[in-house]
Amino acid sequence: MTGASGMRSGVNSGVRSEMKEASTDFGHIVGSSPLGVVTARSATDVQELVRFAGPHGLPVSARGAGQALYGQGQAHGGYVVDMSALDEVRCVPKERTLTAGAGALWRDVVRAALAAGLTPPVLPDHLGGSVGGLLSTGGFGGSSHRYGLVADWVRELEVVTGTGERLVCAPDRRPELFRAVLAGLGQCALILRATLALVPAPTHVRRYRLYHDAPGTYLTDQRRLARDSRFSHVAGQARPGLCGSWRYMVEAVVPYDGGPPADDELSIGDLDHDRDTEEIADLSYAEYVHRLDRDERLLRATGEWERPHPWLTLLLPEEAAGSFVPTVLAESAQHGLRFCGTVQLRPLTGRTLHAPLLRRPAGELLCLLALMRTAPPAAPGVVRRLVAANRALYERARTVGGVLHPVGALPMSPGDWRAHFGPVWPDVVRAKDRYDPHHVLTRGYGLWT
Ligand SMILES: Cc1cc2nc3c(=O)[nH]c(=O)nc-3n(C[C@H](O)[C@H](O)[C@H](O)COP(=O)(O)OP(=O)(O)OC[C@H]3O[C@@H](n4cnc5c(N)ncnc54)[C@H](O)[C@@H]3O)c2cc1C
Repeated sequence: MTGASGMRSGVNSGVRSEMKEASTDFGHIVGSSPLGVVTARSATDVQELVRFAGPHGLPVSARGAGQALYGQGQAHGGYVVDMSALDEVRCVPKERTLTAGAGALWRDVVRAALAAGLTPPVLPDHLGGSVGGLLSTGGFGGSSHRYGLVADWVRELEVVTGTGERLVCAPDRRPELFRAVLAGLGQCALILRATLALVPAPTHVRRYRLYHDAPGTYLTDQRRLARDSRFSHVAGQARPGLCGSWRYMVEAVVPYDGGPPADDELSIGDLDHDRDTEEIADLSYAEYVHRLDRDERLLRATGEWERPHPWLTLLLPEEAAGSFVPTVLAESAQHGLRFCGTVQLRPLTGRTLHAPLLRRPAGELLCLLALMRTAPPAAPGVVRRLVAANRALYERARTVGGVLHPVGALPMSPGDWRAHFGPVWPDVVRAKDRYDPHHVLTRGYGLWT
């Protein structure tokens, strides 16, 4: 293999630290021992590795920013491709497009787009993930209720398939491959670069944080906001209240340029929140999209960023969320979320979500529930219990029509994946057989036996 110079396998301290990084992820729950790490500096590096690994049956996984939660990007007994050097970002304002290397971070994308007064229509809340990693899971953000997934705005992809072919695909060019890659969990190809559509960015936003004491009024308001277009971004959280209760917060944003901000009465006058505690702030759009940078700095400073993260993300039919969410939050298994973690509740509308491999509940109105918790360090028993609680909750969610959003920490069997993909499972199998016949790509999800 001519690219062997790029393949590392534990020789000096720099290599050791690369190997250590590639053996774990943000979840800090699953560990593995790869044979080596290859830093991809060109498409050829990726092709050569995959062409070598495939016939030998050696696992290959791309690593972007390492934000996986349960080993999904690891390659036990195989090779991890570090994509971080493929980070070039080129914005073409005239065409309103931007092409990014798969290893670029979303904050690199935002910087280049905003310099031209543009923005992707949907951005993840946290900008520290990689372009390739997010597109492989779909990508939700504050504007998803109106504009769908980050992946729904991809115009073209360049990939290396599991047979080592370097191919370009788009909605009208190898559409089967294009559909198999977006939200396709890295099963058919590794993404090298993506071209994204852009739209004009507002200069400012007016942000409302509106609190509810009861889940019922919160969900009624979220339903209304998901259906109409008064806000460009809508998200929400459950936050610990007094005496074991939870409060529910809508975070909604109106964009504006130059002139006066939105009329508050028009924006929130008909909503049912607690008026005494509403928070209203004007921010630049750049400040808004970087809103989680400060949280990340704090979590890194306290060490929480490096602790185990047994997260779970579910997509629920909106009509089930009203009883499911408060019941779950009241349970002792979720008690730790009151002290260490975040509960995210995002309204979504089914008709805006296009990538076929992003599985979702039937029905038009959906609710994304993310239990983003941090476990204590050096307490493997607690982590095991929380992962088991995730599994139990996933099974309960399925009984009310819920679907897993596969960025969490829970064991999944091939049978679970078959059920997860449901009617599109035959498409997944067909694409896998065609594009990764050796079944070496991205085994960390455990889709196959
Ligand atoms: C702090 C934090 C905040 C998050 N916020 C959001 C959010 O706002 N919205 C949202 O939708 N998700 C969010 N996520 C989930 C996250 O975006 C996904 O887990 C994503 O897959 C991470 O990609 P990565 O490159 O950062 O991580 P990695 O661990 O490097 O990769 C994750 C998965 O993608 C695969 N992959 C990576 N690069 C490629 C590639 N080039 N081609 C093919 N497959 C590839 C990996 O093999 C692995 O399976 C968040 C996660 C964390 C930890």
